[in-house]
Amino acid sequence: MSVMTLTEFVTARLGEVEGRAWAVHDVEKCDALLYEEDMADAARRDPACNCGMPARALREVEAKRKILDHHKPVRHEGRTVCHSCLGASTFWPCRTLQHLAAIDSDHPDYDPAWG
Ligand SMILES: [Zn+2]
Ligand SMILES: [Zn+2]
Repeated sequence: MSVMTLTEFVTARLGEVEGRAWAVHDVEKCDALLYEEDMADAARRDPACNCGMPARALREVEAKRKILDHHKPVRHEGRTVCHSCLGASTFWPCRTLQHLAAIDSDHPDYDPAWG
């Protein structure tokens, strides 16, 4: 059994959010949901609705993927350290990624040793 890395864990959670982004809308603002009996089907057909929630969720996924990539692990003097926090941090996952992963700390795959 291989141990899931923080990168794999966060990547998997972001994939889930991306795949479900169409399902989250602001019911007070969303025109896509007004006249449809099947709200989920309507949202799938019109992910670019005017409430902006699906679009925002996708931007958040994109931003977090960039943060993840920015803080990728590198070998330095025999240790695995953060590419961007090198100097400020002597370990990987760095604090930035620990905070990012902690968003899903209630997930069964989350490893408390990360943070
Ligand atoms: Zn909407
Ligand atoms: Zn870092």
